[in-house]
Amino acid sequence: MQRSYLIKPFLDEEYPQAEYGKGIYLYDVDGKEYIDGSSGAVTASIGHGVMEIAEAMKAQGEKVSFVYRSQFTSEPAEKLAMKLKEWAPGDINWSFFVNSGSEATETALKVAIQYWQEKGRPSKTKVLSRWMSYHGITLGALSMSGHIGRRERFVPLLEDFPSVEPPYCYRCPFHQTYPECQLLCAKELDRAIRRVGSDQVAAFIAEPIIGASGAAVVPPDGYYQEIRAICDHHDILFIADEVMTGIGRCGKKFAIDYWDVIPDIIALGKGLSAGYAPLAATMISDKIMEPIFYGSKVIMSGHTYSANPQSTAAGLAVLNYMEQNKLVEGAIKKGEYLLDALRILQQNYPIIGDVRGKGLLTGVEFVSNIFNKLPFSSEVNVTKKVVTKAMEKGLLVYPAVAGMEGMAGDAVIIAPPLSIKGEEIDRLISVFEQVVKEIQ
Ligand code: PLP
Repeated sequence: MQRSYLIKPFLDEEYPQAEYGKGIYLYDVDGKEYIDGSSGAVTASIGHGVMEIAEAMKAQGEKVSFVYRSQFTSEPAEKLAMKLKEWAPGDINWSFFVNSGSEATETALKVAIQYWQEKGRPSKTKVLSRWMSYHGITLGALSMSGHIGRRERFVPLLEDFPSVEPPYCYRCPFHQTYPECQLLCAKELDRAIRRVGSDQVAAFIAEPIIGASGAAVVPPDGYYQEIRAICDHHDILFIADEVMTGIGRCGKKFAIDYWDVIPDIIALGKGLSAGYAPLAATMISDKIMEPIFYGSKVIMSGHTYSANPQSTAAGLAVLNYMEQNKLVEGAIKKGEYLLDALRILQQNYPIIGDVRGKGLLTGVEFVSNIFNKLPFSSEVNVTKKVVTKAMEKGLLVYPAVAGMEGMAGDAVIIAPPLSIKGEEIDRLISVFEQVVKEIQ
């Protein structure tokens, strides 16, 4: 085989070369078929090989592929911002386009700090976040991320932003049970703010449903209402990191819509272009934009490829396709069907400790003892075994970490394209069952 100079995530591993994709399937150069049970990294929400998107990108490419954001705007960027305004809750009307989820959350961080500067309160610079969270890999985004594995090498460069325990009922950090707990996990935010001083805190950021570092952990009802109330009480902005959960993934346009809570800023990525082009967005409310409009009039962030015509053409075509095919609405029923099937596996295989999720973002957590929820030791690396065995059998699932450090457990995310059909869910489950059977 010819030597490769491509740097891959794990240098000692072999990766198949992808040849083409259609619907929920990917094919490698040897003709092997894979069910994309995780939409890659929870990204390919409308499935692979959708010609409408390829054609929209081609049409835009034939007009103009690149303009610089401080010189021109473009039709697809304008139309996509308008479409997102229609999709987003409340007064979240403005879109700042970037290229990755990390840039979207980092821009959110900067906008929050800038908002308080414009309001004459420059001491508000900290962004509180939760343990068991992931907001991205660049330094600002990593500072907000409570994901020890990804932080540890760079700790000297990072701010200590994670300070609040997650709403993780399966292993409650407070050893409580809902609803008797009275949402201690949310009230923790109040304590954290008081400890730091609300004059120092610009915002609180959270993934509405915890993704990569939790595997689809859904908070208890009332959690986000409480968070919103605490933020309002202390004059702190609430940033919803919807990079993984947004754009229909969880069966609503935005996952936070489940709780009728309106954030001040929303970060989007992944499903926004469904993998057809690098595209992400920081969506900002009227309330936040107003003092910037009347103040410095510039958001001090941005990239060469921000609001790229080709990428925004892809994003616009994706949202139009989702509307035409009612993919968001469909994800609720499909998600229930998938969760029910996973719960049946849970009853039959004691290695499955928990099954959770909303819409087509679902998670499976593995335990060595179903009764005391004991995780496997890290040497066993069950997550890797599951992911590898699934891939051998032609199924892609996404590795996640479950639980807090010190007791971090094994979990995978199952999040197929929203276009998946009922019989394809059956097929996915049947392969996953074979994997679990062989691992346990
Ligand atoms: N925020 C969340 C919730 C994510 O899940 C991710 C990626 O997994 C990011 C931010 C970072 O996005 P990206 O990898 O596109 O930089």
